[in-house]
Amino acid sequence: MSSISDAVTARLVIMGPQGAGKGTQAALLAERLDVPAISTGDIFRANIKGGTELGRTAQSFTAKGELVPDSVTNAMVRDRLGADDVSRGFILDGYPRNAAQVTELDAILGDLGVSLDAVIELTADRDELLARLARRAELEGREDDTEETIARRLDIYAEQTAPLTSAYASRDLLVQVDGIGAIDEVASRLGAALEPHLS
Ligand code: ADP
Repeated sequence: MSSISDAVTARLVIMGPQGAGKGTQAALLAERLDVPAISTGDIFRANIKGGTELGRTAQSFTAKGELVPDSVTNAMVRDRLGADDVSRGFILDGYPRNAAQVTELDAILGDLGVSLDAVIELTADRDELLARLARRAELEGREDDTEETIARRLDIYAEQTAPLTSAYASRDLLVQVDGIGAIDEVASRLGAALEPHLS
């Protein structure tokens, strides 16, 4: 029986509002497909922790829940997608987040001579998201998990990121998955929905 684990290449984007479970599902899927999960938020946090120049630039935006400027983010993603471990694919988590980043991702992939296989959108209603984010704030203590910053990030998602799905839908790339339920339940739902897009 064929399964998504048999896919030769897998170039994927995972989208969804804060708290929808993107990071968790991206990590599980990355393991299953044996491609790296690339989270722009994680790269920024690692740089902030490491005290790099990129980290110092990013922190002034991440701490407020604002997007880091496209020039910085785009260069970082271009660099990461050029690495050797990405040759069979990747799962991009947290990018693209606005229309300019969609254009840039197309340009980066075009330069590499590859294209996306699918864009996964994990959905969940705002009440569920807020409940999950409140739990995460207690567990992880992220600097940007204050009530005010969470609200700002959800607003930016709704205004700038959620509308991007229609562009991907018109390219027949969009795979919508209900993010409510147990982690393994969502993972198998996602795998089944993704199957027709991978070969
Ligand atoms: P969340 O999705 O919970 O907001 P992330 O870990 O994806 O968390 O991102 C954390 C922060 O990193 C964002 O609030 C933003 O400041 C910055 N960031 C991540 N990805 C991008 C991006 N594609 N463009 C601009 N800023 C980004």
